[in-house]
Amino acid sequence: MRGKTMLDLGARNELIVLDAIRHAPEGTSQSEVVDRSGLSRQAVSLITRRLRERGMITTDGTLAGSRGKPRTVLRLVPTSLLAAGVHLDPAGITLVLADLLAEVIAERRLEAPTDDPAGDIARIAEALASIVEELADAGWRTPDGRGPEEALLGIGVASPGGIDVRRGVVVNPPWLPGWRGVELVEQLAEASGLPVVLDKDTNAALTAHTWSAAQSSEETVLYIYVGAGVGSAVSSGHRVQHGSGALAGEIGHLPTGLDGEVCGCGRRACLSQFTDVSILLTGGRRAGILPADGEAGGKDGGGADGTADADPGGKAGRDAGREQDTRSQLQDLVAAADGGSEPARALTLAYGAALGEALRTLIGVHDPHRVVLGGPYWTALAPQVMPVIEARVRRDAPPERVQLMSSTLGDEVAALGAATLFLQRELSPAAR
Ligand SMILES: [Zn+2]
Repeated sequence: MRGKTMLDLGARNELIVLDAIRHAPEGTSQSEVVDRSGLSRQAVSLITRRLRERGMITTDGTLAGSRGKPRTVLRLVPTSLLAAGVHLDPAGITLVLADLLAEVIAERRLEAPTDDPAGDIARIAEALASIVEELADAGWRTPDGRGPEEALLGIGVASPGGIDVRRGVVVNPPWLPGWRGVELVEQLAEASGLPVVLDKDTNAALTAHTWSAAQSSEETVLYIYVGAGVGSAVSSGHRVQHGSGALAGEIGHLPTGLDGEVCGCGRRACLSQFTDVSILLTGGRRAGILPADGEAGGKDGGGADGTADADPGGKAGRDAGREQDTRSQLQDLVAAADGGSEPARALTLAYGAALGEALRTLIGVHDPHRVVLGGPYWTALAPQVMPVIEARVRRDAPPERVQLMSSTLGDEVAALGAATLFLQRELSPAAR
């Protein structure tokens, strides 16, 4: 697959103009872009003409000016370019194609990663090629008539931790025992013919949020990613903080100060002892709320539990439905708690209390304007867990100090976020 577009947005000034237009979904005027970008009128005029010629913006319609003179409206053409997002997760691989406003154009679920990373990477590239082909066959075109292959800029990949972002290598992710030292960026680029960027699932989910939110660029956001375990990410001015390696936001062993056992790390009552999803599922089974173990689901989050079994044929259907299965078990658990089940309540309460205490600490450290909770299992847990978290957080951080909100981007936020990782790298002036 050849993905080189007509796009050559190397020039930072072009990105600045594009960014100013993108952040005005209702449309903006040339004068406003001049004000916002700090560029000269001549430069903005030249750049907007180029962007229009490439089909990335339109200049249709007029906007009533403050002094009554109608001005030409500049608007982004969201479907002029696409990026692919891949979420590599122990429970399954999700692929999306998204446009410039992070709207999902197409989506596909693949079986979980196996012990054969090279085979998995080939699978991802093939699936992406087939999605693009199906879109083309279905008649998808950019408004100026280009097909999806031509519009596709590149691929972002979101992985659990244990990666080297700079080298593009999956080093030792938790719960993906077959993936050690995999040169993912290089291999996927070769298999797909497209440029590839790699980051953690938590950072990807946060990037999806900052990319799509029309928010102040000064805002500091703390993102809590609720998956098999809980991770965090912080962004300031639309830039995700990476730390010196890729270990920022690994909060599983943050002490909660609650009553709890000694953890494997040597401390007591670590966050992960309450918020690994396997704890909820095991507790739910013990209490008879969830069906006894034995078939699909319920294993993710439990560590090295033999996901790579010797039965690749039989594994297929099981893995594809595993994340969904975990989600529906969490929904059952929350429904039981809603219905007054004491053991279910105790589990969700402990989860919320631990995450609430962790958040009190993290808010103290980062002083964010906003805390966003999201990730594959958040929607299922939120009805029971959010009120508990909120009560804890509000002990020392009132609403006027920090906003607490659920992500509105759905359970597949990491895949969507992976696509925005690529958009961010290619199109955000802040990334240059
Ligand atoms: Zn620990």
